This record gives sequence, structure tokens and C-alpha cells, in this order.
Amino acid sequence: MVTKVILFFSIMIAPLWASVTYSVSSEKVANAQTMLFELQSDETFSKAYVAYLGVRYPFYLHPSKADVFYALVPTGYYVKPKKKNAVIVTIVHGEKHYVSVPIMIVKGTYKSERLKVVSSCAKISKKNRARIKRENYEAKKIYHTFTKNSYITEPFLRPMESKITSAFGTKRVFNGVLKSYHSGTDFRAAVGTPLMAANAGKVVLVKNRFFAGNSVIIDHGQGIYTGYYHMSQFKVKKGDMVERGEVIGLAGATGRVTGPHLHFAVHVAGVGVDPMQFLEIINVLY
Ligand SMILES: [Zn+2]
Repeated sequence: MVTKVILFFSIMIAPLWASVTYSVSSEKVANAQTMLFELQSDETFSKAYVAYLGVRYPFYLHPSKADVFYALVPTGYYVKPKKKNAVIVTIVHGEKHYVSVPIMIVKGTYKSERLKVVSSCAKISKKNRARIKRENYEAKKIYHTFTKNSYITEPFLRPMESKITSAFGTKRVFNGVLKSYHSGTDFRAAVGTPLMAANAGKVVLVKNRFFAGNSVIIDHGQGIYTGYYHMSQFKVKKGDMVERGEVIGLAGATGRVTGPHLHFAVHVAGVGVDPMQFLEIINVLY
């Protein structure tokens, strides 16, 4: 009896069940990788998003496919391997519709670096520790700032054409305990080599920072940020709008480094992701 009532009720509220078709770049994702969802609905929805690991990732109009929407969904570096559903939610006539997509989170094949001493944290002065804390807070605030519109109309470029000297994700292990990881992709770069904006956007940070040295962060809109560290010289200032491929600075060896290089970082909706895997995924859209 109860079942019948519920059934009747649901039919009354949602007489037309929206037909949704979707695709996902991969149903298997490693920690720190990004997934691309595409969605097509035969009914107009007022809102659509992917709910994944407790966060909602909105769908946007696909830049090159008519009537298709896309969402970029990142997995954090510290997320453990497990099977976890991503739920595509569409709201049609005020009614929520759900489609569950089983996602297998696997362990990324990141290298390990065993440290004999705990980095150099113990040697950092109290003043510098306070500075690091301030800089981390500032960066976190930037990455969680959400610009609704996208500045992007073309595929992403690499910030320079050069050899990758250190891949994203290398684990820094001390006494068997994961202490930190390499949060970007390092490119070989002699001091003075021009560095390009990977895509169009707004410069939101131009600053010398303790670890990252001279840093530029670009907001590409819709939660996507790229970061360029250890520069010798800035060619932009905060607030500037930059074109894809525009020179934003020159490579250098500022900050805590052993030699000149470019550290290139990408954040999606507040989550630090593997930049090279991200570029591959997002460039499918253009
Ligand atoms: Zn690096």
C-alpha cells in the first residue's frame, strides 16, 4: 500500500521522466586526475551538476558541440582508492533527477622520493613559517574563488616547449609516511626563457612567495587556475587580462629551488590536479 502511494506520488510530480545521456572520459580515475563529463538532456533543465565526493561541479555549455553540456570533475591527491559513484543531477521543472555513474578511484602511478630528513621545515624561521602560512591561505582563497564566465575559447598550450624534468605527483616520504607531494609539472628552463599563459584569463596574483618564488596565477574562469613559479621577471601585473600564449614572465630560480626551472600548476574547483593530464582532458572540448 505504502509503495503504491509513493509510486502514485512520484508519477504526479514527475510525469515526464527526463531522458539524459551522458559520457565520462573514464570510469577509472587516479588520484589528482580530472574527469570530463558530457551531458545531453531532451528536457530543458534549470540546473545540472555532478555530485562527487561531497562537492557539486556544475555543467556548462559545451564550447564546440550544440546542445551538449560539460563538467570538469577533479579527484584530490590524497583521495584513497575506492569505488565511488558520481551522481549527475538535473533539475527539470523543479524536480531533481539522478543518474549514478560508478567511478573507480585507483592509485596514481606517481614516483616516490624517500627523504632522510624532514624537508627543511625545522630550519625555517618563525617569521618565514608565518609568511608561508599567509601565502598558503591566500592561494587557497584564490583557488576557491569562482568566476562564473570562462575566458577560454581555444585549447590550452603548454607554458613552454621544453623537457619535463620532474613530473607531477612525486611522493615525498619520510620514515614511511607520506609528507607531501610535487604539486606541479617542472619544465627545464634557462633563466630568462619566456613563459606563456597556457590560456586566456585574468592575472590574479603576481608576487614573490617563500617556496614558489616569483609567481603568477591566472584565473581562466569557472574554477580553473594555472600557476607559474620561480620566475626571474614578471611581464604582467595583477588584474591584467592576458591572451593565450602571451608572455607573462621569464623563467628563473627564485624561491626554494636547486636550479632554474618552471613549476607549472593547475587547480580545478579548488583541487590541485596533474597539469598534463588536465590539459589532455580539457583540450578535448576545443
Ligand atoms: Zn616543481
